[in-house]
This record gives sequence, C-alpha cells and structure tokens, in this order.
Amino acid sequence: MDKNPVITVVGSINMDLVTLTDKVPQMGETLMGTKFQTNPGGKGANQAVAAARLGVHVKMIGCVGKDQFGTELLQHLQNQGVDTAHVETVEERTGIATIIVSRQDNSIIVVPGANDHVTGDFVETRRDIIAQSDLLLLQLEIPLEAVQKAAQIAKENGVKVILNPAPIRDLPGELLANIDYLTPNEHEYRLLHNHSKELHKKVILTKGREGVSYYEGNQLVNIPAFNVSAIDTTGAGDSFNGGFAVGLSKGLSLKEACQYGNAVAALSTTRLGAQTGMPTANEVEAFLNIQK
Ligand code: ADP
Repeated sequence: MDKNPVITVVGSINMDLVTLTDKVPQMGETLMGTKFQTNPGGKGANQAVAAARLGVHVKMIGCVGKDQFGTELLQHLQNQGVDTAHVETVEERTGIATIIVSRQDNSIIVVPGANDHVTGDFVETRRDIIAQSDLLLLQLEIPLEAVQKAAQIAKENGVKVILNPAPIRDLPGELLANIDYLTPNEHEYRLLHNHSKELHKKVILTKGREGVSYYEGNQLVNIPAFNVSAIDTTGAGDSFNGGFAVGLSKGLSLKEACQYGNAVAALSTTRLGAQTGMPTANEVEAFLNIQK
C-alpha cells in the first residue's frame, strides 16, 4: 500500500471574532448586535484542517501568539488531527479577524499579529519539513517573502506546490515560476495582473456553484460543481483547496483531484461554519457513491 501522503501548509492561523447584527453601524454609531462567537480560522489553518479531516498527514508551519487564542488554536488544530510540531508560539498577539455579519453583507478586519512572524528566515528553519513533503499548500495571509521562500524550497526538492492566491495581491514572476497550481476564485482571477500564457497553464479557477475550470493545452476544461442545497459557503474555497491538495497528493489525475475538491467543498456548503462544515474522507466517499 502507498504510504500516507504528507501535505505541508505554510500559512495563517487566526481566531475569527464573529459579530452578528441586523444592521451595520455607521461611522461613530453604536448598535446592539444579536450574537457573538469565536471560530478558529485563518486560510492556512482552514486548509490544513480540510486536508487533515480527509485523512492525510498534514504538517502546519506558522505562528501563534503567547495568549489564550494561541493556546486554544493549537489545541484545536491538534484535535482536528493537524501536526502542530512546527508551529511556533511567539511574543505577539495571535492573529485575529473581526467579522461583522449582517443580513446584507459581511465586513472583515484582519490583524495578522503573530502571522507576520512567519518570515522567509522562519520558513528557512523548517526547510527539511517542506523538502520531505509530498505537497506544499500556500495562501497569501502571511508575508509574501515567506510564501516565496516556501515555494522555492519546494521547487528545489521536487515537491508540488499549490498557491491559493487569497487575499489577492501582485504575484512576482519568480513565485509563479515555482508553483504548479494557482487556485483563484473569479474575483481574485479578475484582479490578477499577470495573465501570461505560462500562468494560464497553472490556473485552476474556482467558480462557486459553477465548479472549476482550467486549460488543457488550448482546450478549456470545466469540472461542474455538485448540486447541493448550500446554506453557508464560508470556507468553500478553503475546502476545495484542502480536497484538491489531498487528491493530488494521493496521485489522482488533475481532473479527478478537481472533482474530489468539488465534492469536499460542496459538502462543506451544506453545513454551517468554515472549519466545522468540513467533511471527513468517509463522508466524501459516501457522497461520491450517491452521485454515481
Ligand atoms: P471562494 O469560497 O474562495 O469564494 P468559490 O466560491 O469559487 O470560492 O467556491 C469554491 C468551490 O466551492 C467551488 O469551485 C465549488 O467546488 C464549491 N462551491 C461553492 N459554492 C457552491 C455551491 N453553491 N454548490 C456547490 N459547490 C459550491
């Protein structure tokens, strides 16, 4: 039997502070909200949890702060089966996202805190972990130099790299050269400035309920999403990336890995919460069997 693949995630670990309200306050206004909750988040941690729930060995590289959120998040990641041996606790506040959810829309303020300690030099101290992985999964919620360093180490060691370019920002050509798959959603794709042919070969575009698209040579391939009753699409992209990474690490073809990612993401939208909605390998398998 194949050994269980190892996926390394270098990325953000946040506590989401979620306030639900009927109305969003104007500048200077105070309002009563309806509910408050704290949810483990951060794109790095979300994608690590998505992949770990699917049964592969996931090593997280990142930083939390020396505070209560840091302790809680480490414990939470461990409970979800994520290997946190390479997460460092630093003299800083843990990253947070203040999320205001109203009937109309969401607004979010992210304070990176400890995530900013994930520098190129920090990633260098974890070189062997990356080099020994089957796949590296990256996002853009840590300093860009750390993303670049991680991708470079992976490339030097023949480790496949997925970069989920969220939140979107300009991506240097040297970084793009070191990644195998770029997984923007439609909004991020529109804001990508580099639209070279080289880049197009690497893009796996996620299109919400439309599924995903990519180019095979000059041919556009569309892998439709699964038809589900979505109730909460928060974290759909993170679920897709976790599932896609697991599929590739297990040796599935690009098409099959996209289908697997679609299934993981579709299931996650049928449940509330980003991480809490993420399915296990057995749940995905049962779902795929019903779809046949
Ligand atoms: P993001 O969550 O980053 O905005 P998308 O909206 O593109 O990204 O969603 C990512 C993936 O989640 C899609 O490619 C699809 O597989 C799945 N997905 C999202 N919304 C739905 C939906 N309503 N029904 C089924 N699958 C969905």
